[in-house]
Amino acid sequence: MLSLLFLCLPQAADSAQLPIHQELTQADWRAAAKGQGRFLFAAPMSFRSLGVWSSRAMDGVQIAHPKPHGQTPTAWPLVGQPDLTEVPGFPGPAGQRWVSALVHFPQNQTSSVVLSLPPSLAAMALQGDLSCALVWVPVNPLAAAQLPQTRAVGKPSVYARTSWGADPPQCSAGYCTTTHVAMHHTASASEYVSTSWSECASNVQANQAYHMYTRGWCDIGYNYLICPHGDIFEGRGGGDDVVGAHDGANCGSMGVAFMGYFHSPHNQSLTQVMQNAFIDLAAWKCDQQNIDPLGSAWYAGYGANMSTVYGHRDVSSTACPGDLAYANLPQLRVQIEQKIQSGGSVDLILDNATASYSGTWNTGTSAAGKYGSDYRWASTGTALARALWSPGIPQSGTYEISLWWPAGSNRSPQTPIGLLVGGRLYQGSVNQQQAGGQWNVLGQISFASGATPVLGIENTGPSGYVVVADALRLRKL
Ligand SMILES: [Zn+2]
Ligand SMILES: [Zn+2]
Repeated sequence: MLSLLFLCLPQAADSAQLPIHQELTQADWRAAAKGQGRFLFAAPMSFRSLGVWSSRAMDGVQIAHPKPHGQTPTAWPLVGQPDLTEVPGFPGPAGQRWVSALVHFPQNQTSSVVLSLPPSLAAMALQGDLSCALVWVPVNPLAAAQLPQTRAVGKPSVYARTSWGADPPQCSAGYCTTTHVAMHHTASASEYVSTSWSECASNVQANQAYHMYTRGWCDIGYNYLICPHGDIFEGRGGGDDVVGAHDGANCGSMGVAFMGYFHSPHNQSLTQVMQNAFIDLAAWKCDQQNIDPLGSAWYAGYGANMSTVYGHRDVSSTACPGDLAYANLPQLRVQIEQKIQSGGSVDLILDNATASYSGTWNTGTSAAGKYGSDYRWASTGTALARALWSPGIPQSGTYEISLWWPAGSNRSPQTPIGLLVGGRLYQGSVNQQQAGGQWNVLGQISFASGATPVLGIENTGPSGYVVVADALRLRKL
């Protein structure tokens, strides 16, 4: 049954490994038992994410990645999503309602997990009365470029599918005029604690693999996903206004998922940058389609009127997007309206090619975590070398300033940064040995419309290192 399901699926476009389903038998549970409800399962391959399917609620179940001796493993309480539709061909009793959950581990070479079950479930497992399957989702190499798409006016920077290594959809795209914006969460708590852009991108990729090769959908369900760092990832392939699979109605709605678990028992809460990203995305779409974010309209796929910006639970029986995210909806609608009234968003990304340089700089391409195709670097302890960006400010307001660099052990731990605004110089430094491959916020500052601030990086830190000039971002708040 299981192998038939796989045979029906076309091969992925690249050499990416597909997830492996392992239906757990009574013998598997007995072999894995370590006492006190703990079960150690060895993976059939190196994996990064683990899906768990069960015919029972998973409340009280915990999953942990065994760590070397003496270290405390991080245990994730598993809470399933009971509102999923059954996958045809999935093993287990026919007609049974399954719950599933997905957990990601930041380490790449993970080879085993520990499942901790409450006593009643553990007893059922050992007696062969629990239908349960593990889905091992492999590490897939990310496509290199982390470059956002070219931005249309008013559209926030979005990381395209190529940046997170999407597999091509296995169906043709359908289109509906967008009238609504739906809020979801991914119900995966481990996504919320991710610490880097590349971890978030891998999580998006694992979600797609899980949606496609486990649930049998033709692509990732959401139109967009927002990570805890406020980065927006393109979801469903096909471009603007493509119909996703996110709330059962779909036609006319742009599905946006916050990556995390904003409900009991995890009770994570939306970061400010996640909310900003949602506002940017919704304001762009509402402005483009003349949608009133404070009103309601006919939702074609649903066949009734619905608030134009709604939560998944408004149209389906589900906790999604979680109490804590849902509570933000009224305020977010107001902020979306304010954003439209103020003329949209400004989000300037300046790659190293747009900077000017003095002194001796080299072009590098080999460092992991670079922005775009290359970066510039200069040695410390040599003649003064400066990289300067001088963006024009299109709208007055408060801007968040961020820098991106590829980290490395030979980078200067004190790379000097200077910002010249209206004759005033602000100075600081960053440690380029750390926090590579992501936007690092330097601070916020107000600019007048038409201002031309100058931001510079120089090689005057401690000698024996290199400083890197890669990319600068100015985002209006
Ligand atoms: Zn949802
Ligand atoms: Zn992120």
